Amino acid sequence: MSTIFTQIINREIPADIVYEDEMCLAFRDINPQAPVHVLLIPKKQIVSMATVEMEDQVILGHLMVKASEIASSLGLGESGYRLVVNTNADAGQSVFHLHIHILGGRKLTWPPG
Ligand code: 5GP
Repeated sequence: MSTIFTQIINREIPADIVYEDEMCLAFRDINPQAPVHVLLIPKKQIVSMATVEMEDQVILGHLMVKASEIASSLGLGESGYRLVVNTNADAGQSVFHLHIHILGGRKLTWPPG
């Protein structure tokens, strides 16, 4: 089932897009939890980390490399950042289209809540 992120990919609803290529899209979170809060998503509709398959390994590798590049391009490479992938209910996943949160621009606490 498609989600609001499919609508963002298809430009049916607006988003502040910071990066795009044939495999992925990155845009600023509508409810930022840090000065920099970007969501990086595959264009393929993967539901969550709980449903990834071996055939997704190229996409997943691509996302991690792009997360690093995007974080650096947003000025976080030196200061640091956190990549988060909330998965299913206990982690509070609310949009069931796999996404990597890229969070930075402030000191992040650990452990996460
Ligand atoms: P989750 O809780 O599933 O890990 O994260 C979903 C994220 O998507 C949340 O941080 C939420 O603020 C963000 N989000 C939900 N709807 C929209 C939207 O329409 N536009 C944007 N840019 N972000 C959204």
